[in-house]
Amino acid sequence: MVSALAEHVAAAPLVDHHVHGAFTVELERAEFEGHLNEGSPDPIPPWMTQFDSQLGFAVRRWCAPVLDLPEHAPADEYWKRRTELGVAEVTRRFLGGAGVSDWIVDTGYATSSLLGLEGMESASGARAHEVVRLEALAEELALENVAGRDYADAFTARLAARAENAVGAKSILAYRTGFDIDLTPPSPAEVTAAADRWLDTAGDEPRMDDEVLIRFGLHAAIERGLPLQLHTGIGDRDLDLHRVNPLHLLDFLRATPDVPVLLLHCYPYHREAGYLAQAFPNVHFDVGLGINHTGVRSVAVVAESFELAPFAKQLYSSDAWGPPELHYLGALLWRRAVTTTFGRWVADGDWPEADARRVVTMIARDNARRVYRL
Ligand SMILES: [Zn+2]
Repeated sequence: MVSALAEHVAAAPLVDHHVHGAFTVELERAEFEGHLNEGSPDPIPPWMTQFDSQLGFAVRRWCAPVLDLPEHAPADEYWKRRTELGVAEVTRRFLGGAGVSDWIVDTGYATSSLLGLEGMESASGARAHEVVRLEALAEELALENVAGRDYADAFTARLAARAENAVGAKSILAYRTGFDIDLTPPSPAEVTAAADRWLDTAGDEPRMDDEVLIRFGLHAAIERGLPLQLHTGIGDRDLDLHRVNPLHLLDFLRATPDVPVLLLHCYPYHREAGYLAQAFPNVHFDVGLGINHTGVRSVAVVAESFELAPFAKQLYSSDAWGPPELHYLGALLWRRAVTTTFGRWVADGDWPEADARRVVTMIARDNARRVYRL
């Protein structure tokens, strides 16, 4: 028997508050398998397959039926069928099947092979909203040969222009500096000196990795009152995982005025994030990315995200990037995890069912609507 709670979770439209576009290009199997691994940029070694992972097993279990295959179809059959259907049809099925009403899209990374906002909307029938990546704005300015003395004004103006159509800002300082640095606002003289230095050496493929300018960008976004997304926790090994524990943000959060700060992914620091969400009224978090990559164990990860954090401070995200399986699976595994977890608490008499349903709606949709003013 399907419970009222399970029905409610299955039907709840989701706001996926941190996501990227789906691929517009056909993939080789090796590339696809590479995208089932978040940590390593290297090719999957020939003596293994990334299908042999929690995410790979979850793809075979839950994505195979979307492509008209039996559950747990072997990886070779999955790949054959996926190739037969082609990228447009595969994307339409997975994005449409996710049950997402709104995608909040980070448009700042490797976008040439990904659907943009309009592409995401037409492939899924849902709305798409933009989040501006602060480091990408700085890199645009470098390519436009802005002078060091004009950098601060040019950045502020560019951010203001982008903010017209964006619902938030995102920083990937986790990748560029880590969190264990001084995160106070730099002085105008420091910004000019840093901009002179960085722009001088930025070259044709600028990479914003200057601590002072990253801090300047963060505080420019805060001053505009934009909800601020911060990558925390897992990512590819380019980042120093031990330096992106959100606990390193304590001083920054103590000094940050009341703009929403969204700690993204957080895994394996989702318990730290839950504490911060309790300790600071403006801190919110999600366990996206961790959900897909832990597969069946995402039930435990989602359950752990419901320890310290007030329920009004939690959001749903898939953090899918590239294969549309990830947009679909993130939603499916989240629904499965809350149905299992809340269902057990309701069955044990710990939670009233009506409240369980109410909390589902908060995290699926209402908290994100409030934070991003959708
Ligand atoms: Zn992310």
